[in-house]
Amino acid sequence: MKLIFEKSKPGVGCSVLPPCDVPDAPLSPQAARKTPLRLPSLDENQISRHYSALAKRVFGVNDGFYPLGSCTMKYNPKINEELADLPGFTGVHPLQPEHTLEGCLKVLDLAAQYLCEIAGMDAMNFQPAAGAHGEFTGLLLFKAYHQNRGDTARTKIIVPDSAHGTNPASAVMAGFSVVNVPSGPDGCVDLETLKAAVGPDTAALMLTNPNTAGIFDPNILEITRIVHDAGGLTYYDGANLNAVMGIVRPGDMGFDVIHFNLHKSFSTPHGGGGPGSGVIGCKSFLTPFLPLSGTCRAAALPSPEAGPSLSIGRVRAFRGNFLVIVKALAYLFSLGRENIPEVARNAVLNANYLMEKLRDKFPPAYPGPCMHEFVISLEKLKASHGVSALDVAKALQDRGMHPPTIYFPLIVHEALMVEPTETESKETLDEAAAAFLSIYRQIQEDRESLHAAPRNTVIGRPDEAKAARQPVLRYTAP
Ligand SMILES: *Cc1c(COP(=O)(O)O)cnc(C)c1O
Repeated sequence: MKLIFEKSKPGVGCSVLPPCDVPDAPLSPQAARKTPLRLPSLDENQISRHYSALAKRVFGVNDGFYPLGSCTMKYNPKINEELADLPGFTGVHPLQPEHTLEGCLKVLDLAAQYLCEIAGMDAMNFQPAAGAHGEFTGLLLFKAYHQNRGDTARTKIIVPDSAHGTNPASAVMAGFSVVNVPSGPDGCVDLETLKAAVGPDTAALMLTNPNTAGIFDPNILEITRIVHDAGGLTYYDGANLNAVMGIVRPGDMGFDVIHFNLHKSFSTPHGGGGPGSGVIGCKSFLTPFLPLSGTCRAAALPSPEAGPSLSIGRVRAFRGNFLVIVKALAYLFSLGRENIPEVARNAVLNANYLMEKLRDKFPPAYPGPCMHEFVISLEKLKASHGVSALDVAKALQDRGMHPPTIYFPLIVHEALMVEPTETESKETLDEAAAAFLSIYRQIQEDRESLHAAPRNTVIGRPDEAKAARQPVLRYTAP
């Protein structure tokens, strides 16, 4: 497909500006452009077709099943978009006087109350714009807490090897070093290894529970106790809350800080680079360190007394991505107290249903039951038939679905990480299982053809290393 610049023809256009009826006010020569602005010239029909053609090349939740593990690509009800589009929310400016923003401040307050209740935390801060940004902010709180107590030896963050890659990256960005602890054969944290890893240099542990293998760690209370006993703090990576929301609270598991990805579990679409929100929550002893703007406390807590600020400062302008928070609140209101746990139950049910339908031919890496996602290992199929996780993922694309996450978590060889989400019907799950099983037959009958998949997509097998290392992000005019 040609770029819009390549379709451009000089002189073609669709500008319909009326003649200017005020006198020209020429710019000074220093401020004026030396060369004309390079904009494509096309007629309206061509522009419309260009963008429609681009839209057809994309695969999203509106096109089909999208079980991308760890990403929670669920259907987001359109009503929440409409509510976030109300002029009272879109027409405000963060520098307006507070008394003219009362409705919006109430939204933040209510969202904080509910998120505190779901997380088992005492305060929320809305500034972080994404999950990794929330991690970074949470780790800065830990750093400020230890430093404020004069405990400067705590420089290490413990991260299990099943962690999302952002965890060690955020720890390094926040100035810590990372201690990687290997998981046990059951995919969970090995208690003896953890005991050996903690000490007077431990700043904190970062953990995802259920972890990226879709397993809820049965020793979670013991794990957070071991870290606290050693003087460390505990960070809950709550990017995906689908398995536990309304059922069990990270604060009750012994965690001090959590981040949510509102753009995964709470009704903001993601994957296209749009705005997100990595809201962080913390226990009350950490609230003095939160960014001053964008913080809301649970109803029971008084505001802090005025005094020298211990705040880590700002991590972003103003109070965060406000409209994302509106959508999260609309979503929570529409579900209500009784249906929030229902989301979690259905997410877990759907994952277990699909895992069991595939178990014989595509064995899970851990026996299960799983939580909101499960991981298949194709290690044996690769050894016996030479077919990789990548081949299966590409073959699924030919069958009209988005492939699962592949080669993650890193601790599972030839991993396919499947997260169906609660918004898919039994029919969709049955169709997905049928697609997987037809690939299994293709492996038995004609495995060579799999290496040529996909055949039905616009792009087949791009050079992924080159796309990541040498991305071409700008058009250079010839
Ligand atoms: C998605 C995800 C993150 C990072 O979130 P971003 O918004 O992409 O920065 C962190 N941890 C886990 C477990 C995730 O799934």
